[in-house]
Amino acid sequence: MGSVKEYFSSLGSGIASLVKGLAVTGREFVTPKITECYPENRKEHHPAERFRAELHFVYGDDGRHKCIACGSCERACPNGTITIETKMVTTPAGKPKKKLDKYFYDLGSCTFCQLCVTSCPTGAIAFDNDFEQAVFTRDKLVKLLNNRPEPPEPEPTPEELAAAEAERQRKIEEAKAKAAAAKAAKAAAEAAGTPKPAEAPKPAEAPKADEQAKE
Ligand code: SF4
Ligand code: SF4
Repeated sequence: MGSVKEYFSSLGSGIASLVKGLAVTGREFVTPKITECYPENRKEHHPAERFRAELHFVYGDDGRHKCIACGSCERACPNGTITIETKMVTTPAGKPKKKLDKYFYDLGSCTFCQLCVTSCPTGAIAFDNDFEQAVFTRDKLVKLLNNRPEPPEPEPTPEELAAAEAERQRKIEEAKAKAAAAKAAKAAAEAAGTPKPAEAPKPAEAPKADEQAKE
């Protein structure tokens, strides 16, 4: 008797489970489809704005990027994905300045953690959501981000030129003052009778060739 009861009990729970499953299937059957038919829908498909697909430089309306070549992003990257090369240039005001030469980004080793973006003090880099990055060889994943022609440096204003000249004069005066102080200190030391360092003995001269001949 007990086995018949168990039989109908398990049959009932099986039917309940079946109905539950069919309810889920039926609900999904009438739910609007969210599966993307890629690549057929390439034109209409827009991934979320915050989707991180590839790092790029942010350029201003004047065609300039904001990178100051500080290297903060390169140091923050845990994978060595970023390589920065710098160069020294002379500004129109005559000052030496470190500038970005090449900014390489290896998409193949990027984990999209965004540490580089958050560590950048000038907002020079950002991620875009262009997800179509398939290439045939890995070396094509290494990208030069500062790939636009660089506009020439703006001419310095008269105020900047005057400031640069004042700075130059200040440095000259500073160097002169240092040299004078060193000279005065040396003179004072000599006046106080500081013994001179002992002169090294001269090496014995070798006998000349003609003297040797006479002998
Ligand atoms: S997102 Fe992360 S892994 Fe990718 S370049 Fe930036 S710091 Fe490196
Ligand atoms: S992108 Fe930003 S953090 Fe990286 S070197 Fe340029 S300014 Fe510095």
